[in-house]
Amino acid sequence: MNVDVLIVGGGIAGLWLLAELRAQGVNALLVSDELGKGQTIASQGIIHGGTKYALTGKLTGAALAIGDMPGIWRAALNGTGLVDLRQVRVLAESQLLWTSGGLGSRMTGFFASKAMKSRMDAVPHEQYPSLFLHSQFHGGLYRLDEPVLDVPSLLACLQAQLAGALMQVDVQRSGLQQAGDRYRYNAVLGDGRELEIIAGQIVLTAGAGNEALLAATGLDQREWPAMQRRPLQMVMLRGNLPMLYAHALGMSDKPRATITSHRDAQGRVVWYIGGQPAEQGVGKPATEVIAATRHELADLLPWIDFSQVEWATWNVDRAEGCQPDGSRPDQPVLFRKANVTVAWPTKLAFAPMLAKALLETLPVMEKSGQNAPMPVRTLLPPVTTPVWELAVFTKN
Ligand SMILES: Cc1cc2nc3c(=O)[nH]c(=O)nc-3n(C[C@H](O)[C@H](O)[C@H](O)COP(=O)(O)OP(=O)(O)OC[C@H]3O[C@@H](n4cnc5c(N)ncnc54)[C@H](O)[C@@H]3O)c2cc1C
Repeated sequence: MNVDVLIVGGGIAGLWLLAELRAQGVNALLVSDELGKGQTIASQGIIHGGTKYALTGKLTGAALAIGDMPGIWRAALNGTGLVDLRQVRVLAESQLLWTSGGLGSRMTGFFASKAMKSRMDAVPHEQYPSLFLHSQFHGGLYRLDEPVLDVPSLLACLQAQLAGALMQVDVQRSGLQQAGDRYRYNAVLGDGRELEIIAGQIVLTAGAGNEALLAATGLDQREWPAMQRRPLQMVMLRGNLPMLYAHALGMSDKPRATITSHRDAQGRVVWYIGGQPAEQGVGKPATEVIAATRHELADLLPWIDFSQVEWATWNVDRAEGCQPDGSRPDQPVLFRKANVTVAWPTKLAFAPMLAKALLETLPVMEKSGQNAPMPVRTLLPPVTTPVWELAVFTKN
């Protein structure tokens, strides 16, 4: 099979790129086992505009560039962008940022900074959500102009739109093969049939799977950028909870908790918690992480009764381009050799930034038309299962 561009890996990075390539008339194909498995489905769906990066008190160049992301996503959600996301559910148009108790000096700088004032508004008391209209709440409340998306619906929307260019493969048995100074892709389909795919350009967007894909090429690994994993142990609460999309800020430049709310298949509310509990919980037993989060929530929201909720944790690695000090890259990372490009978006929100960087630099291209029919009958990669359906919840 011949294609202009082959994308390997169906998370947000690959799907967004595929949508843009097809819109430009490029014959692009994406191969994956499932869609969104790994990081995208585990993400909180927050479309960052760089505020989190500015918590240190400094608004860096990268944080400013990221400021464009909510606008790009909003255009897509309204149907006026490069990618059509009108079918995606928006969980919240904006998030809350709340402070409780003391603020570190850096944080005071953050709230005082002029740049931040344009990105968030103090919420007037009469507009407080009922959750914060409590006599025990003494902190400040701000509204942050960054939406939160329902990630399963994002994946389903892209799957429906791009179905003609998605192919399910057995990822354990498929991979790159060198042919002279270029690479091609040997696919093993779900039913065991093999297919050789010859592509002008191959883009690897397999998240953590990029590492194994590169290792299997037999290439000198020193010629490729290394990947870093930054693990998290996310915490989930399920029960009678209000819908909340908020960052709780304290003394540190990392949120004390970042809370998003989701409904499971049975309609139950799940709070999905990142920030410090998830960072500090890495490598610890789930019971310990849950106990620490329970303690933190009791301190942050003492008027809420958490005694009846069920708890779970979810371990997942963030996969990124390696940084010398192991810190989070400020932007997407990509690297090209021969006709293979490996890419990590760093954030779900940065998928458009990665696609732009790829489209500006991919030495494409044949544009043989987006409607080239699939030469063989193949299966559509399914949208993977949300993590709150897979996690095991317990009462304590
Ligand atoms: C807990 C958590 C919360 C996060 N929250 C946010 C957030 O709120 N906002 C935000 O902007 N970012 C967030 N992020 C970061 C964001 O999720 C990632 O940056 C982004 O989803 C990475 O997308 P990706 O497409 O590169 O990789 P992935 O989402 O990991 O997708 C990889 C895809 O490749 C497939 N695959 C794997 N191996 C192979 C192979 N060998 N061949 C073919 N296919 C393969 C997988 O099945 C999958 O479909 C979060 C990350 C984590 C871990």
